[in-house]
Amino acid sequence: MITLQEVVTATGGKCAFTENLDFTGINTDTRTIKKGELFIALKGENFDGHAYAGKAAESGAAGILASRKVDVEGIPVIYVEDTLKGYQDIAHAYRMKFPRLKVVAITGSNGKTSTKDMVATVLASRYNVVKTQANFNNEIGLPRTLLGIQPDTDIAVVEMGMRGLGQIKAMCAIARPDVAVISNVGSTHVGELGSLDNIAKAKSEILEDLPSDGFAVLNGDLPRVRAMEKKLHTGVSWFGFTEADDVRAENVEITADGSRFICKTADGSAEFFIPQIGEHNVMNALSAIAVGRHFGVQLNNIKTALQGTVLTGSRQELLHFGSYTVINDAYNASPASMEAAFATLARLKQSAQPPCRTIAVVADMLELGDTAAEAHQSVGRMAAKAKTDILLGYGEETKATVDAAAAEGVPAFHFADRQGAAKKLTEILQPGDIVLLKGSHSMQVSGIIGLVFKK
Ligand code: ATP
Ligand code: MG
Repeated sequence: MITLQEVVTATGGKCAFTENLDFTGINTDTRTIKKGELFIALKGENFDGHAYAGKAAESGAAGILASRKVDVEGIPVIYVEDTLKGYQDIAHAYRMKFPRLKVVAITGSNGKTSTKDMVATVLASRYNVVKTQANFNNEIGLPRTLLGIQPDTDIAVVEMGMRGLGQIKAMCAIARPDVAVISNVGSTHVGELGSLDNIAKAKSEILEDLPSDGFAVLNGDLPRVRAMEKKLHTGVSWFGFTEADDVRAENVEITADGSRFICKTADGSAEFFIPQIGEHNVMNALSAIAVGRHFGVQLNNIKTALQGTVLTGSRQELLHFGSYTVINDAYNASPASMEAAFATLARLKQSAQPPCRTIAVVADMLELGDTAAEAHQSVGRMAAKAKTDILLGYGEETKATVDAAAAEGVPAFHFADRQGAAKKLTEILQPGDIVLLKGSHSMQVSGIIGLVFKK
């Protein structure tokens, strides 16, 4: 896969070993290490890979990348200052061994993983594709994805998350994307970045170092993203719901099984069905259509591929328990994704036959910094706008949501914890109810399913 010499050159590391040798792979975890692999001793918050160097060698590692002395014999140790940087350098060098490979990088405040899964599904209808597994979108996940490239891979689809300025730029230096997708710009991580303008600036870093024959796929309906046009030095496809968009959706219809829309492009239109609900997922699908078209996938083949996309984790997962419908969207939460969730709830209520009630169970959105209070109030107003029949909330911040909803006339109840909310939900449920579960991951709102529906 990569030679010792290449590793030394890529990392600028020091190694006493003079013979060259071939590593069969790169691994950061001694539990899965295979014979012939290079073990990277990463230092995390709770563990230090250096302590496992001996175990790695015993398990067949053919070399170790370390930043301090490790006690192993018979195999080369490459010493670098920072093993995470070394890991990234190796991933970059490896990616550059495939000059014909194309990298599609995806960022945005919400919808990265969903978009990544849809883009990969579309491209896989014609190409060999590797993609970010699960949600491994940070400075460790990115090298891991790139090191999964095989000689016959045509396209790598990588998710890029960020919590500060400069991070996307650094990831682009490693992955060298050819195509960049920005799903949207919203207030996720506004606590760290200070303002929406800063968030937009951080996202736009993904466009800066695209090659001149690169391509951008951008949300055309958000002024902050439209404004990035000035920065562009490549071709672009705008996606969204307006006439100004190159790839746009019309006649959007959201049902309990999925979403239907007509996609219009410069060279044709087609009716699409995706098994995901919500306008935000239609947006994600539009960006996948734009990427597919850039790579020459026929609209009809894109349509077939998107019908079968399976998204990672519980992102607006639709579940049915008897006559109850549950929208489990408790994977994470931010004001934008709350808005998307309530919009979906409202659409489902509108299209329900016979009419039904909607109940939202919400909990705190974390990492919002100074904007937390206002953001939680705004969720109460969203519930009212969506004509939610009953709102149940738990968590300290969510008091503001419940108060705001009650002020708008929504019957709303606050509980100290999830158990309290679950008990109330059990009492009030009526046949046919649609229940939305939404909150930050660590609030574990999806636990309601076990407490209420699967008892
Ligand atoms: P993370 O930062 O955790 O990696 P992500 O950007 O990868 O998140 P997803 O995991 O795809 O986002 O989706 C998370 C939630 O965001 C979904 O459950 C959905 O409610 C909402 N969401 C998805 N796509 C969009 C979108 N285009 N606009 C607004 N909200 C969206
Ligand atoms: Mg993600």
